[in-house]
Amino acid sequence: MKLKSIVIKCFFVLAFAFLISPSLFATNDVFFKLTTVMQKVSTTYIPKSGENVLTRRSGCRYLVVTKNISTKDDLEREMNANSGGELDDGQQKMVDTMAFSEGDEIKKLLALGQKNRKTEIDVTVEIFDTTFVDDVDASVVIKDFWPCSYIGMNKIDFSTCYFNSYVTAEPQSVLVHEISHAIDKNSREPNSYGPDNSHQFFEVTMPRSAYLEGWAIYNQYRVFPGPNNSSIQNLDNVVKNWVTFERNTGGYQGYSTSKVTGGELLNVEGINALVLYKLSKQVGQTQVENSFLKSNTTEVKLGDFLTTFAKTYPSSVKTVFTILNEQTFGTLEDSEITSLLGTGKTVLDLLKTRASPPYSTAPALDLQKTLNTQMAKLKQLMALKKPFSSTTKKSILDLKAQFEETLGRLQAIIDSFKELNEDKAGLISFSPLRQTKLKEASNTLDPIATLFSGFKTAVANFVINNGIAKTGRLANED
Ligand SMILES: [Zn+2]
Repeated sequence: MKLKSIVIKCFFVLAFAFLISPSLFATNDVFFKLTTVMQKVSTTYIPKSGENVLTRRSGCRYLVVTKNISTKDDLEREMNANSGGELDDGQQKMVDTMAFSEGDEIKKLLALGQKNRKTEIDVTVEIFDTTFVDDVDASVVIKDFWPCSYIGMNKIDFSTCYFNSYVTAEPQSVLVHEISHAIDKNSREPNSYGPDNSHQFFEVTMPRSAYLEGWAIYNQYRVFPGPNNSSIQNLDNVVKNWVTFERNTGGYQGYSTSKVTGGELLNVEGINALVLYKLSKQVGQTQVENSFLKSNTTEVKLGDFLTTFAKTYPSSVKTVFTILNEQTFGTLEDSEITSLLGTGKTVLDLLKTRASPPYSTAPALDLQKTLNTQMAKLKQLMALKKPFSSTTKKSILDLKAQFEETLGRLQAIIDSFKELNEDKAGLISFSPLRQTKLKEASNTLDPIATLFSGFKTAVANFVINNGIAKTGRLANED
């Protein structure tokens, strides 16, 4: 009887503790392993029992010992024992990273991930300590133990040699980046990083890939913005000027941002990161995280996030519009913006106040209406009974000039699409978006151009044949 009441009491105490602190039982964690790389062994070396040999990218084989590490003191002790007393720079950075992993920023990210994925988030970081390998070229060792992450497996590899030599890279910020991937449900498109299978923050890739990398970069720079926000500034300055496309044959082609379509710019991970970063600064980190959670699926892109954000926080639509328009440098078409942010009054009013995007067929359609009106008027005048009065002749010439001026503006739009067509062979097949855009443009613009340039020639001939331009008087009046 007494035991039963103790059990019941315990149950209530536990249930209460759970209610007041759900995180009390969350076991989201970052686990660390230390793999000490002892020495290089020959290709014919046969490991003794208990020994482990790793073959790396260069073909070198290394004798290694792996231990689970539970505290940073453990890690420090193990590495100290390895190096004989003093930690080198790379080793110290690994100890600092382990200390950082126990802090609030990582805890908050993991809690967000648990909410999102409805499961605990455990990430394993394997640190390769290469301090003792002195019989292999340092640059080979760095490449052999290059940091990487296995996204689906929540596993990250770090190495002392990489952070020893690439001192500007903050391992703590890399940890934030990789954990941001671990808490995300999103998946990238097959072959989205092009033939080299790697990506850069200023590269045009594909929508989901750009968004999932943008999310990771956003968190990385939110926590580590650099001195005076230099990391963010650098990101902003680069994508403001140019982005790159990967060629099918390998290598990159840089393009001035002004020669890139809005749809393509949305597929640049740095631009995705900047949109998220600016929203978090101007609206709030909570709002960004709530919209991330609400829209996160296995196939999600920045546009889905923005649609959710605009619907959830209607009073911030103006800010969302402004950031989106600025970060894509005014290149998104009106229809692309309304498909993301809706057709509410705020959006429609803001669209009226901005300049026309450079690669849009919409202004050409407006010009088409003007050209139709001008063409109809010209036809009316040209059909009048001859001899023409001098007023009619003047009207024909005036209208002809206006018509040609409008046609010139149409031609400028057609020419801007021709610029998009540069370097077709290498780039277009990797940018289906550009292909679609060019096809849509030529389907829309070519018939307009053909019709009106044909009429332009007809008017010019009419003017000459009837002596209108030459004397202002008709030939048969002489
Ligand atoms: Zn990443």
